[in-house]
Amino acid sequence: MIKFTNYYSKNFVLNWMKIKSQEENLLQEYALRNTNCRKEILSAFLSKGFALTHADIEENIAEAHDRVTVYRTLKTFLDKGLIHKVLDDGGSAKYALCKDSCHFEDHNHEHVHFKCTQCGQTNCIENIEVPKITLPLGYKAVEANLLIQGLCKDCNESNVGLR
Ligand SMILES: [Zn+2]
Ligand SMILES: [Zn+2]
Ligand SMILES: [Zn+2]
Repeated sequence: MIKFTNYYSKNFVLNWMKIKSQEENLLQEYALRNTNCRKEILSAFLSKGFALTHADIEENIAEAHDRVTVYRTLKTFLDKGLIHKVLDDGGSAKYALCKDSCHFEDHNHEHVHFKCTQCGQTNCIENIEVPKITLPLGYKAVEANLLIQGLCKDCNESNVGLR
């Protein structure tokens, strides 16, 4: 099933004004207790709109929460289907917000991820699925990841402007 969502529109629509109520709605929807740490981490994801590392998250939360609390919150979000892991070549794991249709019984993250070599941002391209690959006999796939590297739309456009 391919859902045509423009991943830029998510960033565009979720401006700061809307984020405050959005975090609370998300926490409620996923039956999560509304803690400051959870709210702040969600708002970091919502305001950034691209995949974040643990360090990025710590940098983007107003209040200082210890590493363990941040780690546990990320684990809860992963288990609940609010965020998913994004394979990245940077050495540290990145996480991205799941699309609306993602819940813990029904996770599908086999979409393409795109890493920009100029700004370093990694984004979900949710409307492009990882193509099915036939493995040699005896192999069993559990999940597939596809990271495409290049220039994101913004960087590509600003480069054109410099010419
Ligand atoms: Zn998910
Ligand atoms: Zn870029
Ligand atoms: Zn993704």
